[in-house]
Amino acid sequence: MSRVLLQKTDLHGLAARGAIVEEVLEAAYLSRLAPLVTDTAATVACNLALSLDSRGNTLVGGTVTTTVGLTCQRCLEPMAYRVEASLDVAIATGDESLAMLEAEHETVLPAEAPRLADLVEDEVLLALPLVAMHASVDDCGPLAQRLDDAAQDTSDERTTNNPFAVLKSLRSD
Ligand SMILES: [Zn+2]
Repeated sequence: MSRVLLQKTDLHGLAARGAIVEEVLEAAYLSRLAPLVTDTAATVACNLALSLDSRGNTLVGGTVTTTVGLTCQRCLEPMAYRVEASLDVAIATGDESLAMLEAEHETVLPAEAPRLADLVEDEVLLALPLVAMHASVDDCGPLAQRLDDAAQDTSDERTTNNPFAVLKSLRSD
């Protein structure tokens, strides 16, 4: 497996050659993503194309797809989460073109990114939900159902111990 993604490469040089990078990256290599997922054996499929724009800026476009394991925050059981993100990164070669690039591209970097893997990781992190959860309670594990029942009991109790119920009975005296 070639490792262009993980190397500190001359992206401008790759872009000048119109390089295509098709690699599969293990989540274990992505130090910011790895602690967030339950399965570090997950892989990210990257399909990137590098090119130069008419002003000589480096462009990195393409798609990253993966399915990672996250912990559902409702039932604390693992859930699979599919990420399909597109990359539209411009790396500015001069300050004068920054504003123009920002109008044209999703992500603009003022200087050469250290590795393509970092760009890929950024994109996957952005695509993850703030709070991971199964689509519905029915998809959740037993803990969610128990918590749901417990919440129901508490609210029943609240009705019976309602202090206003006491006031009501005093008033009727
Ligand atoms: Zn769940």
